[in-house]
Parts: sequence; C-alpha cells; structure tokens
Amino acid sequence: MSHMAYIGLGSNLENPEQQIRSGFAELGALPGTRLTAHSRLYRSAPMGYASQPDFVNAVACLATELDPEALLDALLAIEIRHGRQREFPNSPRTLDLDVLLYDDRRIETARLTVPHPRMGSRAFVLRPLAEIAPDLQIPGQGRLAELLPRCAEQDAFPMETLPAS
Ligand code: AMP
Repeated sequence: MSHMAYIGLGSNLENPEQQIRSGFAELGALPGTRLTAHSRLYRSAPMGYASQPDFVNAVACLATELDPEALLDALLAIEIRHGRQREFPNSPRTLDLDVLLYDDRRIETARLTVPHPRMGSRAFVLRPLAEIAPDLQIPGQGRLAELLPRCAEQDAFPMETLPAS
C-alpha cells in the first residue's frame, strides 16, 4: 500500500544546492518509492549554533510503500552516503533528512517521532511545505496556514529571490 510522506532536506556544507538536488533524486530512487513533488530551494539562517554557513532547505513529497522505520533507515543510509558526520547537536551537515509527516499518523517510538516535533515552528520547513501542500494539517500542531504567520520573523527565503552571494 502506498503512503504519503513529507521529507525535510537541509545542507550547509560542500555545495549545499547540489546536495539537496541529488537528495531529491535519491529519495525518488528508494525501493517502492516515487518523488511526487518537491519545493524550491530555500536559504535559511542557522538556528541554535550561529557561527556556521547558512543552510539550503527544501521539502519533498514521496509516495512510498516503505513503512516509517524502513523509510528512516533509508534516509539515514542516504545521509551516510553524503558523508554526514554528527559532531555535535545543530552542527554543520552535508545532508540532513527528516521524516516530517507520514500520512496523518502520529508515531512515537525510540527512533522516530512523527510529525517531526519542531516542524511547526520552523519557517524553513513550513514555507517550502506550503508550496506543495498549502492546505496541510499537521497532526497535533495545527494547520499550516495558522502556523506560518507565527514564524514570520524567521529568515528563510526561496534562493531565486535572493541576490547571488
Ligand atoms: P538528526 O541529528 O536531527 O539527524 O537526528 C537523527 C536521529 O533522530 C535519527 O537517528 C532518528 O532516530 C531520530 N529521529 C526521531 N524522529 C525523527 C524524524 N521524524 N525524522 C528523522 N529522524 C528522527
């Protein structure tokens, strides 16, 4: 049976745009999985640990037959292929992949919390998500349309609207 999963992508090392674009392709090539939509690329200021490069972020929508834990394993395998090392929380990363949503399910296991617990307060997740699923309801967090204005002050904008850096 096919499920709809939204994945958050983020990168701020080693050509982040390329990391995200190849991330889209690798997500779409997972077993039993199709990439049905993806957002534009956004540039966002780092949260938590500020003295690191800006991030490039995007959101992808998958139709997948993988169950949530198998999907997480597949995401971790892609991250590792991209050379990801976890040095400390919120440290720079070549590619970070998060399960944002899986159908309308709420999942709480030792390895997986879905919806992603912080997604509803992050402009770099909500703005790209709103491009591809504007009417979305995030279980336990609220409607996208209500959550978006609450993070209006945050720095996260589509890259094509920004001056080249
Ligand atoms: P991070 O450093 O943010 O990439 O954390 C990755 C770890 O968070 C993974 O090893 C997962 O076990 C755990 N995790 C919990 N919930 C999620 C989620 N919704 N998406 C991705 N990883 C998750």
